[in-house]
Amino acid sequence: MSGAGFETGDERADASGAPSPVLRLRDIRRAFGDKVVLRGIDLDVAAHEVVALIGASGSGKSTLLRTVNLLEPIDDGLIELAGRDISDPRVDADAVRARIGAVFQQYNLFPHLSVLDNVTLAARLVHRMPRAEAEGRGRELLASIGLADYAEAFPDRLSGGQQQRVAIVRAILTEPELLLLDEVTSALDPELVGDVLALVRSLAGGGTTILMATHEMAFAREVADRVVFLDGGVIVEEGPAAEVLSAPREARTREFLARFL
Ligand code: ADP
Ligand code: MG
Repeated sequence: MSGAGFETGDERADASGAPSPVLRLRDIRRAFGDKVVLRGIDLDVAAHEVVALIGASGSGKSTLLRTVNLLEPIDDGLIELAGRDISDPRVDADAVRARIGAVFQQYNLFPHLSVLDNVTLAARLVHRMPRAEAEGRGRELLASIGLADYAEAFPDRLSGGQQQRVAIVRAILTEPELLLLDEVTSALDPELVGDVLALVRSLAGGGTTILMATHEMAFAREVADRVVFLDGGVIVEEGPAAEVLSAPREARTREFLARFL
């Protein structure tokens, strides 16, 4: 890897000797002109942890996720990936993104590439994985989501739900240290949501470290270790999923959750 002050490999430990979290955000601030969107976010995601970001539309969830893989600059704060500062402007953003899988709401696949090429492209070009290895892994993963027969097809032959599962499979092909999911089911017809959630559930069960924005409260309760409620660019409340979703302490959290009853 190139990029000043950024190498892959060892995990750093903090002063107490505990391993660094996969992700550490400290006092993340971001404004668009006069509009302050993130007002000092502190958040850690530990290895193998699944953290769900919830909050109303406009609360800053997507902006926060985009800051993590350096798609969105921050005005202030610190972002560490496995103990290394990735918010330093000298860091090679492509090298960082190669270690983080990300799937967004929609438009994730390249329409002019086959499903298999979509799934293997980054592995081959960014990670320099040999084609045979990438395609072997890609076909295995496609088979695991029931899409082996679509490897040579173009994405427009797939339903939205199938496309999202392909996008998720692509994001995990190179075993990223962190998987970011931004409302991956919210553009889907309701009958297509279940299969996508099942895939995320199986990744979570397999130990993938996940930070996800979601409006699927039942899913968050079931799969997330921790739920973080964002409102107006601040973390209003966070804690174990069952506690935050079933017995929220803050009035703003209660008001937000009442919309889902
Ligand atoms: P969420 O994902 O929780 O719905 P977002 O992070 O998308 O929230 O947006 C938070 C706020 O930031 C919104 O008010 C949105 O309009 C604003 N915003 C997001 N991106 C931009 C941008 N590129 N320029 C201006 N405002 C933006
Ligand atoms: Mg969003």
